[in-house]
Amino acid sequence: MMIKSHPHEQLLVQYATGELNPAMLVMIGTHVDMCPQCQQHVADIEEQIALKVLGERVTDAALPNTVVDSMLESIMNSPAPIQVRAEAARDYISLEGKRFALPATLARNEHRIGQWHHMVSKLWRAPVDIGNGEMLNLIYMADGAQVPEHTHKGREATLVINGVFNDEFNEYRDGDFILLDEHHKHTPQTQGEDCLTLATLDAPMHFTAGISRLLNPFSSLFFR
Ligand SMILES: [Zn+2]
Repeated sequence: MMIKSHPHEQLLVQYATGELNPAMLVMIGTHVDMCPQCQQHVADIEEQIALKVLGERVTDAALPNTVVDSMLESIMNSPAPIQVRAEAARDYISLEGKRFALPATLARNEHRIGQWHHMVSKLWRAPVDIGNGEMLNLIYMADGAQVPEHTHKGREATLVINGVFNDEFNEYRDGDFILLDEHHKHTPQTQGEDCLTLATLDAPMHFTAGISRLLNPFSSLFFR
């Protein structure tokens, strides 16, 4: 099945060069795990960067080779989303009697996934603590779930891990990466299938007060 909706070029470049904040690194890394097209794209970007550095190595005698070597090494070893453990403790999560496989980047960060909380009817959330106060959310929408219409403060990035949801604009399936801003008003819902997503979520005001602390300042980091 083809992924329709990808991160834009600039995000992939920043991913390759490690310029994304940790939350977005996990987000884009997980999409790349799921997307052969973006894997190729990132590989091409890394190759261009490597060639550029090699070119500068020839012309810039002032830069010691050892420095260039370590730069090259870090480029070749990137992308490197935070990896506290070399091996994933678990590469799946369980919820509502179902088991969901985690893409590699998420599996490496499985220990960061907190407790599931039932938000409202047919909607569950688990925080993913990226560290330094950065937070992602796993959102599970059971079949027939609807998120009340809402706009976003800043921008909301969503990645479908498993399943399908739709809104007024489109249908989103495994691997689709969606970036919405305050100009988009939408009503995500599931019909006929459930859906697990990873999201940087601006809390819709309809939800309980407890969730408002999830308001995520990442967008200002992201688009600076
Ligand atoms: Zn992609």
